Amino acid sequence: MKALVYEGPRQVKVADVPDARVERPTDVLVRITSTNICGSDLHMYEGRTDLETGRVLGHENLGEVVEVGAGVDRVQVGDRVCLPFNIGCGFCANCEHGRTAYCLTVNPGAAGGVYGYAGMGPYQGGQAEYLRVPFGDFNCLVLPPDAEEKEADYAMLSDIFPTGYHATELADVSVGESVVVFGAGPVGLMAAYSALLRGASKVMVVDRHPDRLQLAADIGAIPVDDSRGPAVEQVLDLTGGTGADKGCECVGYQAHDPDGREEPASTLNDLVGSVRATGAIGVVGLFLPQDPGGPDQLSREGKAVFDLGEFWFKGQRIGTGQANVKAYNRRLRALIHEGRAKPSFLVSHELPLQRGPEAYEHFDRRDEGWTKVILRP
Ligand code: NAD
Ligand code: ZN
Repeated sequence: MKALVYEGPRQVKVADVPDARVERPTDVLVRITSTNICGSDLHMYEGRTDLETGRVLGHENLGEVVEVGAGVDRVQVGDRVCLPFNIGCGFCANCEHGRTAYCLTVNPGAAGGVYGYAGMGPYQGGQAEYLRVPFGDFNCLVLPPDAEEKEADYAMLSDIFPTGYHATELADVSVGESVVVFGAGPVGLMAAYSALLRGASKVMVVDRHPDRLQLAADIGAIPVDDSRGPAVEQVLDLTGGTGADKGCECVGYQAHDPDGREEPASTLNDLVGSVRATGAIGVVGLFLPQDPGGPDQLSREGKAVFDLGEFWFKGQRIGTGQANVKAYNRRLRALIHEGRAKPSFLVSHELPLQRGPEAYEHFDRRDEGWTKVILRP
């Protein structure tokens, strides 16, 4: 089958690889029809991980079931399914509590399993014609009859919609609250969208890319352009000096330096500064510990910069980690099905898999207009 494979730093290619197949009785085989490129793929693309060459990328997958193992009861051939990026078993101590990003069965000793991802188990990705889905009954979200008509919306359910929602859940966003979101990438835009769905009264989104800030404005958020002055000051101005009730970190370690300071940028400290005392902060941006220095917000020792003292003094709370996609997926699917959410607003490109390498280049450079790419094998 054809698949997009990692070849080395900033090199991916579409190649012939062994066909994905049912290997265990609990597996489901899916013919992929939509597979998105994610900001998280860029960590591997840029060569910041130890991913081996030849691995198929892609953890945001959707398609049609073409084969099921003998032990699969619920999912059927012909079902249209969206596949949460975390692979869970459904029966370990973490999965039992909805913490499927931290499944103890699929990648023991590490933080769960993910398709086509460094350090997250041996699983192949879905930027390919077919994908093997382990524990298929648990890991397939079966879609309603409008699956094809709303495919670009449902494709956002594999990762970024639930991840954005997770940021608002970690920050415990409640009706009527004000929220500041750092980062207007796909994840930040989904966090802002989720905050609005949860009834936030005012959502401010910080970034500097005009196209991304425009999308934030389009959904009813207030764009905060940090190239025009410190974000913290702008957010304090917008909230009468007290700061936002809640905050979401949707940038991760690959941050631009907002004001040319000597020290590394710190969206974490900017959040502490722009969220009110006793407010809460949800961090879904990824801080890869093994990538010291460089044009990002890690210290020379490769540590995230976080001022615990100021955070403590303000009595704030913080939640972190990967999104437990399964925990939100049914509810977010219902919002799409009933026409109450349309997360595909941020999809900028739908391209054949063959054009994947070119799409990676554009998305990696944050080229204007390349917000979210769906590849179609
Ligand atoms: P992205 O790189 O497209 O978006 C990040 C945005 O942040 C960019 O638009 C960039 O201009 C902006 N930014 C950079 N520095 C900034 C600063 N100092 N202040 C404000 N904004 C700044 O990536 P994405 O796809 O939106 O993903 C964002 C992060 O979320 C990544 O770290 C990704 O790995 C992570 N992620 C986490 C999960 C999870 O489960 N927790 C899932 C998916 C993605
Ligand atoms: Zn992703």
